[in-house]
Amino acid sequence: MIKFNAANEIQDLQYFGEFGGVNPSISDSSTYTFLSAKTMFDTFEGNADGCYLYSRHSSPMNLYLAQALAKLENTEAANVTSSGMGAITSSLMQACKSGDHIIASRTIYGGTYAFLKNFFPTFNVETTFVDINNFDSIEKSIKPNTKVIYCESVSNPLLEVADLRKLSEICKKNNLKLIVDNTFSPLSISPKLMGADIVIHSLTKFINGSSDTVGGVYCGTQEFIDDTKNVNTGACMLLGPTMDSFRSASILKNLRTLHIRMKQHSYNAMYLAEKLENDGLKVSYPGLQSHKNHELMKSMIHEEYGFGGLLTLDAGTTDKANELMELMQTENLGYLAVSLGFYKTLFSCSGNSTSSEIPEEERLEIGISDGLIRFSIGLDHDIERTYQKMKECMQKVGLLEHQTISIF
Ligand SMILES: *Cc1c(COP(=O)(O)O)cnc(C)c1O
Repeated sequence: MIKFNAANEIQDLQYFGEFGGVNPSISDSSTYTFLSAKTMFDTFEGNADGCYLYSRHSSPMNLYLAQALAKLENTEAANVTSSGMGAITSSLMQACKSGDHIIASRTIYGGTYAFLKNFFPTFNVETTFVDINNFDSIEKSIKPNTKVIYCESVSNPLLEVADLRKLSEICKKNNLKLIVDNTFSPLSISPKLMGADIVIHSLTKFINGSSDTVGGVYCGTQEFIDDTKNVNTGACMLLGPTMDSFRSASILKNLRTLHIRMKQHSYNAMYLAEKLENDGLKVSYPGLQSHKNHELMKSMIHEEYGFGGLLTLDAGTTDKANELMELMQTENLGYLAVSLGFYKTLFSCSGNSTSSEIPEEERLEIGISDGLIRFSIGLDHDIERTYQKMKECMQKVGLLEHQTISIF
């Protein structure tokens, strides 16, 4: 893997707040004064670098957070938004205009799927959904008006890994933009190093990590970021998914511990995946040899951050999945909740929740079965203890046999 360590890049940024504070000062203003009227005009025209105008356009704290996230993804620039969907829709609406065409992975976040499938066509932007590792079908789907290939580096909820190097080759050959949602694998995968043009995160998940806010970011070239913020034609400026300064400040502070958290999430998830697979359960985790994309992911990650904090378990039926999740919540093993990246384990039945926007036949075809539980494994200090308690729950609901203890 290429020598690049985003944690070092982020750590090397130095801050001096307004009064010498070790954290940058929060500017609690929606609008900014000008000493000269001429500078105000120039700022509107985009010719007064470093001047703030109005906080929907940019604000000091949002720029600090964006700068740190650009370091995370090794891009020239970034822009933060009030949600992950705000980042996804702003970048797609900037990259595509009426009459354009997108090729997207069919296993993407439900909200993104709904946007591409139902909303964007009303603006005359069509999407072809593909199996993201079937390069033949991708190349066949390319049309003269195709502008973008869109995927998640590790997909939700099936944990399919996209071969970003290969996709970027296809994009370069056909003059397309590769847009990658890297929400599931911050620090461990660096899409830009493998040729992605725009990298997106829902900050709501691992990056903020405390389940107290929604937020998003898109990272790319300075030119692209400036385009999205243009006062006359910028998708983000005009649609307005602006992050509040106080939130940027709190997310920036949480970002400080991301490298430590990701290692622990991955360590715990790997531990549980191995144990549960060994017990004969239907577990899927890209860190397991049995995962179809194990070798691919291994070739893509910065090893120290591992294979991520998500795993899935097929409980067979929705009823069984529900019974198990309710029991695990009662036993305080985590919460029955959507979302991910929290200190506690979160679990939900994907087909009935975060992927419910995808019609049932399509869900089954791509492998989101009715009993599929997605786990976002927490930062548990003693994962062996967690495993033992989890195992008891699985035995109680009949997913695992009670072990017969042999005294001989
Ligand atoms: C949650 C999520 C989103 C949407 O982010 P919000 O912050 O909820 O708007 C997009 N992509 C992925 C992979 C997600 O998990």
